[in-house]
Amino acid sequence: MKTAELRQAFLEYFRQNGHTIVPSSSLVPADDPTLLFTNAGMNQFKDLFLGREERDYTRATTTQKCVRAGGKHNDLENVGYTARHHTFFEMLGNFSFGDYFKREAINFAWTFLTDEKWLNLPSEKLWITVYAEDDEAFDIWNQEIGVPAERIVRIGDNKGARYASDNFWQMGDTGPCGPCTEIFYDHGPDVAGGPPGSPEEDGDRYIEIWNVVFMQYNRTADGEMLNLPKPSVDTGMGLERITAVLQGVHSNYEIDLFQDLLKAASELLGGVETTEASLRVVADHIRACAFLIADGVMPSNEGRGFVLRRIIRRAARHGNKLGATQPFFYKLTGALVELMGEAFPQLVSSRKQIEKVLLQEEEQFAKTLDKGLRLLEQDIAELKGTEIPGETVFTLYDTYGFPVDLTNDIARERGLTLDYEGYEKAMEAQRERARAASKFGIDYNAAGISIEGETEFTGYDHIDGHERIRTVLV
Ligand code: ATP
Ligand code: MG
Ligand code: MG
Ligand code: MG
Repeated sequence: MKTAELRQAFLEYFRQNGHTIVPSSSLVPADDPTLLFTNAGMNQFKDLFLGREERDYTRATTTQKCVRAGGKHNDLENVGYTARHHTFFEMLGNFSFGDYFKREAINFAWTFLTDEKWLNLPSEKLWITVYAEDDEAFDIWNQEIGVPAERIVRIGDNKGARYASDNFWQMGDTGPCGPCTEIFYDHGPDVAGGPPGSPEEDGDRYIEIWNVVFMQYNRTADGEMLNLPKPSVDTGMGLERITAVLQGVHSNYEIDLFQDLLKAASELLGGVETTEASLRVVADHIRACAFLIADGVMPSNEGRGFVLRRIIRRAARHGNKLGATQPFFYKLTGALVELMGEAFPQLVSSRKQIEKVLLQEEEQFAKTLDKGLRLLEQDIAELKGTEIPGETVFTLYDTYGFPVDLTNDIARERGLTLDYEGYEKAMEAQRERARAASKFGIDYNAAGISIEGETEFTGYDHIDGHERIRTVLV
């Protein structure tokens, strides 16, 4: 089954089960300052879960464009390192707004995956996780569906390991949330990794394919958990991951869509092997960049635009590593439009704009990329220890336009780390200088220019091993 056919099969299955097919919303969340980019199918339905809005349906199904490259769910650092993470991906979902709850949600998911009329997956390859205290979900899986207890794992709020399962889902620090049950697929003993919840889970053998969330609470800004007006359901299944399962391949990059994209990228880069990690990063990043631009995001030095710029520059750097000496990334737009334009027509109408913006960014970055890389190489050659000094990271950022994650990407390839603290210090010192200078510079207020509310990217926070973008009011 091709990726496009699977997308259709999913929507059709839920349509036959009384769900209204709703188009994907924009990657730029409407009126939601708590969210950097749309990161899940439920985002566009937030107000329905909260009971603030009603529509003429209580069941919906979507394939939602998602970007996880900043904010609460940030997979940028995983891309190229795992078989299953993209910056941009499609999340298939079915939703109940106060309609059905746990029993039906679990039955819908199981039937779609295992029924011979639908995906017909062997049930013994599927593993289940449930929220530690959720006996109800455990019993439905075990007694009604018939999954043996050995393949049902109870998991709590796991805030520990980087990739560890976490069976309490939330879209952000506030908003609708609840316990969930997840379905994993065992890709077999040839792949390293242990079952969900085990110490070896970080591997890629057991891959999470579907998350079924029992939406029950609203987390407020002061941390309170309020009951939602009606228990609801939100589910999310990565289209690329389930396609990999169906096509009998382990990595998302081996599915038809990515193979075509990788071949197109390889041709642009003089025939590089399609298994090359950097080529995979490039193929991943073109989707995020093209879809973000189609949704109106422009590269800039703050907020969403800065995330886009970071992704473009990363792609340019990986291209450079593969030998590109000229802008190439923008040329991948055509292949992407061919592969995904039918499902997402705005790609077709935005094609020229996407190419123009990407080319401009590539040209601009090309001016400093080589020099920056040379400086970094020199520093690495002289390095004592394994940490790249904060001053270097700062100079690369400030003078050569290397976003910190890009420098970190290079460092990681060499088994090196960055001195974030030193970098922050250098950054702070520069801010001090700017502040002092501005005292004697233009008086913005006198000139009648309002700068209130403008934000500036100031660096990264590292919380629980996850990177978050920080912006401050200037
Ligand atoms: P993982 O643990 O693998 O990082 P997750 O638990 O963060 O996934 P959810 O928030 O539960 O993912 O999202 C629902 C589904 O969306 C996942 O089960 C997976 O199939 C898919 N998905 C999540 N993140 C990505 C990604 N970065 N790239 C591709 N698919 C993804
Ligand atoms: Mg994740
Ligand atoms: Mg997970
Ligand atoms: Mg999950």
